[in-house]
Amino acid sequence: MTELTQLIRPNIRSLSPYTSARDEFKGEANAWLDANENPFGALNRYPDPYQQELKDVLSAETGIPADQLFIGNGSDEVIDLLFRLFVKPGTDKVLTFSPTYGMYQVSAAINNAQFIEIPLDASFQIDLNATLPVLDDPNLKLIFICSPNNPTGNLINEKDIRKILEVFKGIVVIDEAYIDFANRPSWNQVLASYPNLVVTQTFSKARGLAAARLGIAFANTEIIEWLNRIKPPYNVSLLNQQAGIECLKNVNIYQNEVQRILSERDRIMKELSSIEIIQRVYPSDANFILVEVENATNVYGQLISKGIVVRNRSRLIPNTLRITIGTEEENNLFLNELKQLAL
Ligand code: PMP
Repeated sequence: MTELTQLIRPNIRSLSPYTSARDEFKGEANAWLDANENPFGALNRYPDPYQQELKDVLSAETGIPADQLFIGNGSDEVIDLLFRLFVKPGTDKVLTFSPTYGMYQVSAAINNAQFIEIPLDASFQIDLNATLPVLDDPNLKLIFICSPNNPTGNLINEKDIRKILEVFKGIVVIDEAYIDFANRPSWNQVLASYPNLVVTQTFSKARGLAAARLGIAFANTEIIEWLNRIKPPYNVSLLNQQAGIECLKNVNIYQNEVQRILSERDRIMKELSSIEIIQRVYPSDANFILVEVENATNVYGQLISKGIVVRNRSRLIPNTLRITIGTEEENNLFLNELKQLAL
């Protein structure tokens, strides 16, 4: 058994995967009579279960071979599948660094995994002294590192991530939902050095396809093959696949939008710093800004009453609001209302 196979949940190791009709025959048929589809219509056929065309285009853009790509119905599906693959309910543990993206905890609860949270330090970085002693727990199977982190907005230091990748024997997932807004290459560039690394990304943020639901996992081929064995057979619809291909072919639109969002981020940062009720503006490597205000719940409520919806993150970090960068118009509306709030 390879080291990786030992990490796979025992019941998954012995699973006979479902084989779909479209697994058995590729090529062009003269009559498709195998999948109990309706022969009429435009969306009547099941889509490619492995999204080959989408993967080929994504591979060309990222330089990662297509057999090291997995496409999920949003990256939330990828996260869920990683739990199903590696985490044995009732015994296994999962680690993350809080505050961070809430779905890791929800997925842990759904899968009855013990959830360990190590608080990020005052600069929202990993506390290695608190982390290293936990890493040799044999029941610890998955570590989630969100970088840039949601909701704090910062990248996690490279040297700390490398240390964890080197020391930990389980799977390290680096969630790069916001990587397009950061000034750093993806961790998918070092997959060859770390067989226990899974990098996740999404089309929901910079790629502008949140409605389509497309998430990506980059990993070594063995992990990808395991993910393929446990995914629902047709997890990504034809419409999603086509939307993803179209988006990747129009890379100039994506680049232009990212630039617009980044320049708005700079502008809003500056403006926020000069507004009296804002006590602190945290630096951001993402398409949102975390700010501290005097009474966040009050500010949140007043903004809501003006039809402006931000995210109150006070439960995670006292008196903070997370503000997504919108269009110039939306941002102006927000800034103007904020300046006029009655406190
Ligand atoms: N990871 C992070 C850090 C996120 O913030 C989100 C969405 N808010 C996701 C993953 C899930 O994204 P998707 O739309 O691809 O499911």
